[in-house]
Amino acid sequence: MLLKKSYFIFLFILVMFSEPFLYSHDKYFNEPSDKKTILVTGGAGFLGSNMCKRLIDKGNRVICIDNIYTGSIQNIANLMEDENFTFINHDITEPIEIDAHIDEIYNFASPASPPHYQKDPIKTLKTNVLGSISVLELAKKNKCRIFQASTSEVYGDPKVHPQKETYLGNVNPIGIRACYDESKRCAETLFFDYHRKYDIDIKVGRIFNTYGPNMDILDGRVVSNFITQALNDEPITIYGEGRQTRSFCYVDDLIDAILLFMDTDDFTGPVNLGNSNEFTVLDLANYVVKLTNSKSQIIFLDLPLDDPKVRCPDLSLANDKFGFEPQINLENGLLKTIDYFKKELFLKKNRL
Ligand code: NAD
Ligand code: UDP
Repeated sequence: MLLKKSYFIFLFILVMFSEPFLYSHDKYFNEPSDKKTILVTGGAGFLGSNMCKRLIDKGNRVICIDNIYTGSIQNIANLMEDENFTFINHDITEPIEIDAHIDEIYNFASPASPPHYQKDPIKTLKTNVLGSISVLELAKKNKCRIFQASTSEVYGDPKVHPQKETYLGNVNPIGIRACYDESKRCAETLFFDYHRKYDIDIKVGRIFNTYGPNMDILDGRVVSNFITQALNDEPITIYGEGRQTRSFCYVDDLIDAILLFMDTDDFTGPVNLGNSNEFTVLDLANYVVKLTNSKSQIIFLDLPLDDPKVRCPDLSLANDKFGFEPQINLENGLLKTIDYFKKELFLKKNRL
């Protein structure tokens, strides 16, 4: 009871003090500085918030744009009062007007979990297509380097394994995943057309399944579902027989890879970013049950349509071009993520 009351008081204070920053446009960083000013779209989401934190820690000024569609203010709450961080609540399907010089852009804005991107498929398409035009126009105006968070989904249900960047993919253009897969493919097209037509300095990274702190515990992806279910001793829901494979990358490794990529010259990508250790979904379920000491049973549900059967990045291009090698194995990454989920579930259970 006492805990619930203090949690409520803490939330009240947080909202009271952060409110002026949440929707204010006054920290636009238009005064000169030797720091870079970097725009992160989707900065309140899982990957975006990890990137904002890392860029601030490296001594940059960060403008985070997000419409809080799948992200949360809680992911950036610890950055809100930093004088080098500002948040703008904006939907990137609308043009972006910023009255400051931008030195770099990272475009992460898009729902990423299948249930989220399928909930409003037309909005997902608009975010990736119109949103890409918004950020590319801004890059054109500022003549700045821009990173696009593309995805392994551009390979669809791949017929080549592991996937190399030269593989053109196998996507069903009319299936339930197409709103995401095809709009991410179209976003890549837009990035390369802006590069060819306007000489925009683009960096297109194809991200494979990534997990870690700041994932929404209820976002419906496999790692978040399994950990939440295991910690609650609820059934672990495997879709299909669990023989499909994925290759899981811990978020810190992914952020390292993106920063290394951003520092390259004369290399646009596309380049695969992730971890090439491949596991079946059943392996992952057993691993999570073991690491959480859970009493959960594994249950088998229907496999969603068009679910890719295999997925594993060939990372040789990332390794050749910028020496990227992931450092964190699945066990260590899962342990860190389980720790984060335990804290999140505790807070959730004790909310009023
Ligand atoms: P996420 O859902 O946690 O974050 C996405 C963020 O974008 C959220 O904060 C959301 O509110 C915001 N957003 C969505 N639509 C927006 C819009 N129209 N305008 C402004 N903001 C909007 O997802 P994530 O896992 O952090 O993914 C980030 C990016 O990385 C996405 O583009 C995703 O496609 C890509 N990606 C992620 C993975 C992964 O494994 N996490 C894999 C491949 C690609
Ligand atoms: N999956 C599962 N149980 C869940 C959630 C997902 O078996 O509760 C499976 C899903 O069908 C897919 C894999 O896990 O084969 C990875 O799913 P996720 O949604 O994380 O991302 P995807 O790689 O499919 O985009």
